[in-house]
Amino acid sequence: MKFKVNEIFTSIQGEGTRAGRVCCFIRLTGCPLRCVYCDTEYAFYNGQMKDLKEILDEVIKQVGTPRPEINAPFVELTGGEPLAHPHAPDLLRHLLTLQYEVAIETAGSHDLSSVPSEIIKIVDRKTPGSGEVDQWLETNLKYLVPGQDELKFVLVNESDYEWSKKWCLKRSIFDQHTVLFSPAWGSLNPQWLAEKIIQDQLPVRFQTQLHKVIWGADRTGV
Ligand code: SF4
Repeated sequence: MKFKVNEIFTSIQGEGTRAGRVCCFIRLTGCPLRCVYCDTEYAFYNGQMKDLKEILDEVIKQVGTPRPEINAPFVELTGGEPLAHPHAPDLLRHLLTLQYEVAIETAGSHDLSSVPSEIIKIVDRKTPGSGEVDQWLETNLKYLVPGQDELKFVLVNESDYEWSKKWCLKRSIFDQHTVLFSPAWGSLNPQWLAEKIIQDQLPVRFQTQLHKVIWGADRTGV
């Protein structure tokens, strides 16, 4: 079982409700989408073929031997679009078997049914401003585990805010799932978004990309 891997690195988790934790990222190569704000274009094509054992050995080397207790080392499978790889669910299962706490970051355009339910799913719902709003499988909603998984909206402009709010209200998403609203870096004013969320008392979590605050927007491998 082989994967094209762009990079494996350990950094601070920059997004979501687990932001701030040390996390080992496995970034697989390739993505069929082309979001206007993509900050990982370098992962569209570049990478090296690695087999499962090489990947697991590298993770263990970087974050240590897995252990089952709370605050076990945190590992995230990302991309690109990790679910574009047919064996991504197998890699996730092996990481779980090793007793890491494991997350996947995915665009929600690929079927989540093969992802084990214990995997923390951070699912992007692409907005009109992303240019990829139609890349969405509505059936994926039924695989989200309330309290564990997260739906993320990267907002490019003010109309993306209204669109995302309406989309969630129509499906009663706020009653079921953790929702993240994030300003697209360099596009939407974070202060405008924060004030809008407060004004509307919207039950979402404002988030920004912490790793970019720490290291700057252009640094890779963090
Ligand atoms: S889904 Fe992610 S990796 Fe793919 S183009 Fe969009 S932002 Fe980039």
